Amino acid sequence: MKFNIPNFQEHVILAPFTTMKVGGPARWFVTVATTKEFIHAVREALRNNVPYCVLGKGANVLISDKGFDGLMIRAKNSHYVFRDTHVTAEAGTDLTTLVMQSAQRGLAGLEFAAGIPSTLGGAVRGNAGSRESEMKNVIETVDILNAKGEQKTLTVAQCEFSYRNSRMKQQKEIVLSAVLKLERGSKDTILEKVKENFSRKHKTQELKFPSSGCIFMNPAASAAGKLIENAGLKGMRIGGAKISEIHGNFVINENNATAEDIIMLISVIKQKIRTLYRIQLHEEIQYIGFD
Ligand SMILES: Cc1cc2nc3c(=O)[nH]c(=O)nc-3n(C[C@H](O)[C@H](O)[C@H](O)COP(=O)(O)OP(=O)(O)OC[C@H]3O[C@@H](n4cnc5c(N)ncnc54)[C@H](O)[C@@H]3O)c2cc1C
Repeated sequence: MKFNIPNFQEHVILAPFTTMKVGGPARWFVTVATTKEFIHAVREALRNNVPYCVLGKGANVLISDKGFDGLMIRAKNSHYVFRDTHVTAEAGTDLTTLVMQSAQRGLAGLEFAAGIPSTLGGAVRGNAGSRESEMKNVIETVDILNAKGEQKTLTVAQCEFSYRNSRMKQQKEIVLSAVLKLERGSKDTILEKVKENFSRKHKTQELKFPSSGCIFMNPAASAAGKLIENAGLKGMRIGGAKISEIHGNFVINENNATAEDIIMLISVIKQKIRTLYRIQLHEEIQYIGFD
């Protein structure tokens, strides 16, 4: 196996590149600083017939203890440019940077994303959001690389966004960059809203320990966190993993948890919620390296 990729590494432990701080090694690992490098890395994996996967901020993943037997591409392409009410940004751009830069320019639409740890690419793929809004409401177009390594531009309609879902997620397409469409507003009002959202997250989420945010998507007409709380599961521990006392939908890495500890806790939660409420919970987090 010969990659024609400058600076790729072998057997790189992935835990430090995730917010959960869990996960074994990637067989091959490369950080891409430009979209050109990003496309090249994916095409090299395809040429060598090697599985590949992208890591943004690692804020919505659970990586197995045995790691990922393929090429892990860490997206750090982060060039962005504002033009009038639009911003074109590469996938590795930090979402909080875009939130703050938009607010400073008096551009509204991204306030809901304050406090969501994410790259733009991860947020677009998962249609990240809050009660207020979601990514699909600010997207004009998305540049992708499909499973054959072909580059395409999709309109927002072609992205087929739904709750924490998109065509890119379903079809395993890579997000390279996106054009966001914002609206002119009062800078002070926008900054106030951003501040409010940051402080609400600090009050309602468990931020002292590593986590991947909400483990489960909310089932129709209920909140997964409330179901878990009502089931009396808050505070339950397996190994180093614990269900947060603050937010029932957060599993935290309290004390050197393994992916195995977390998976076992997730299984207990799913089983209990199904038995008590006849509701099947589905993971929001993305599993890597478990097959
Ligand atoms: C404390 C905390 C709070 C959170 N709060 C929220 C919240 O309020 N709302 C919300 O929606 N989420 C929330 N999350 C979850 C997380 O922040 C989002 O899902 C975020 O969008 C993940 O982005 P990422 O860059 O970290 O993606 P990663 O976790 O790195 O990747 C997630 C998935 O996307 C894939 N991926 C990443 N980049 C690309 C790309 N460029 N192209 C194709 N695939 C890609 C990965 O392979 C993986 O399957 C929270 C997480 C934490 C830790």
